[in-house]
Amino acid sequence: MKKSRFLAISLATLLALTGCAGQDLVSSDDVVVGDPSTFPEDSTMAALAERDSIRIGVKFDQPLFGDLLDGASVPVGFDVDIAKILAKSLGFSENQIEWISTASTDLLGYIKYGKVDFAVATFTITEDRKREIGFAGPYFIAGQQLMVASSNTDIAGPDDMSGKRLCVVSGSTGADYFAENYDAILVAVSGYSDCVDLLRQGSVDAAVSDNVILSGLILANPDFSMKLVGSKISEEPYGVGVMLERNDLRHFFNKALQESFDDGEWKAAWDEHLVSILGTNTFIPQVDDY
Ligand code: GLU
Repeated sequence: MKKSRFLAISLATLLALTGCAGQDLVSSDDVVVGDPSTFPEDSTMAALAERDSIRIGVKFDQPLFGDLLDGASVPVGFDVDIAKILAKSLGFSENQIEWISTASTDLLGYIKYGKVDFAVATFTITEDRKREIGFAGPYFIAGQQLMVASSNTDIAGPDDMSGKRLCVVSGSTGADYFAENYDAILVAVSGYSDCVDLLRQGSVDAAVSDNVILSGLILANPDFSMKLVGSKISEEPYGVGVMLERNDLRHFFNKALQESFDDGEWKAAWDEHLVSILGTNTFIPQVDDY
């Protein structure tokens, strides 16, 4: 009797260590999104659901996705709404969410070392990052582009950036991409509003980031006219970041995201925040159970 129980525990441990357990734990219909009473006893979901609050990393300076508007105490945006959907999937109400500002510079570390329980922060799923954290999703696909002052007529795309000053946010995919592929002079800052300030002062010639992030900055700064130039230079699938060893949570979030794609909640978030720049959505992402 004792021996077989030991064997059962060992098998569960082995599955957890190899990462198989996550999928097995949540793929069955027995685990119901939004109903903690169905969460397996030893799962990350059950452990989180026991708590009084959940800590979620989002951006605080990205109009449309995660933005702390003047005087507000909670951020708003598409990412924020996706985060609320996922908090609800674990049984948390909105007022049980502790919002934590996670800039690109330190986002990976915040997820990896558990300073947030998960993050929804325009964070691109990349192979390098997948070695350090897990990603659910994607829940959105963006692409990098360049932004310049509207008065600029020299820069029509990345090939024109040779010897020019380019604002990048440290830790972002745009910073890496330009460092590897172009000989622009990189000016690294910690947030996107800094790039707008530098463009406004004429201290940089362009800024690089995801097209939707840049579009949000253009909308949020009507007093300074800026424009996107060139075509998209990358594909940026946004994922929900979780600790690498929390594979069960990653699969559970994939299930919750898929349900939100199917039941219209994801589309409602799009219509609320993104329709002004992207129009009615024409695609629904598919979660990728790597
Ligand atoms: N999606 C890009 C990334 O994950 C840019 C996002 C950002 O810097 O906030 O690096």
